Amino acid sequence: MSTRKPKAPGERRVVKLEQASIEFHVVRGDRARARLVVRPGGQVEVRVPKEASDDWIDDVVKRRRRWILRQQVYFEQFRPREPERRYVNGETVRYLGRQYTLRIRKHGQGKAHLKGRYLEVCVRPSDDLEVVRDAVQAWYRSRAEEVIARRAEPCLALMHAHGIEAPTIRLLRMTRRWGSCTGKGHVLLNPYLVIAPTDCVDYVLVHELCHVRHPRHDEAFYRLLTTVMPDWPRRRRRLEKYGPFLTL
Ligand SMILES: [Zn+2]
Repeated sequence: MSTRKPKAPGERRVVKLEQASIEFHVVRGDRARARLVVRPGGQVEVRVPKEASDDWIDDVVKRRRRWILRQQVYFEQFRPREPERRYVNGETVRYLGRQYTLRIRKHGQGKAHLKGRYLEVCVRPSDDLEVVRDAVQAWYRSRAEEVIARRAEPCLALMHAHGIEAPTIRLLRMTRRWGSCTGKGHVLLNPYLVIAPTDCVDYVLVHELCHVRHPRHDEAFYRLLTTVMPDWPRRRRRLEKYGPFLTL
């Protein structure tokens, strides 16, 4: 019945909100209602009827602003931020939000430890980068076990006050996520979470613990998260600086 017309080039518009602004592409076409799409890169596309006025379009975006911002935050967590780690002298490594310099010493058995502003890795003279990498990864894992066990206590107490019982919390190296909550209600955390400051560690813990009751990022989930941790958006923004690391 209808012949397909070539897509009109998108118009770029911006809607200013109280605390943020939303930039989006407008695509006009043969449709009766507006449709919003947020792409994994965070770009927003608004598909609208051909004759829609700019005010009407802006209004659509304003009405759906919370959903749009939430989708952007959701996709944000999958985006890599840091270049691949090379495990060489002088490289910057992070622990609980502080920066340390990697220092490789050629006398030792492949162990890493903090020394002042350095993360010192002691290896045998014949060892290659893989040994350094293994030592750094093992160090992060042992730090994560200690830090997460320590932070889980107050976070679980917060959740307990809202009737959520303690699930099992395990560490799991994930290439694209800080944490997740399995269908059975087990919480998995990325050991590299300890590169971020403690308040961000707490945020990921509480976020995943909220999923024990509400598996999806729906209204009920955000309501609970906001009740338990009202300043979560600030912590979330802070965490964005830290990754996730694809390789570490
Ligand atoms: Zn989540």
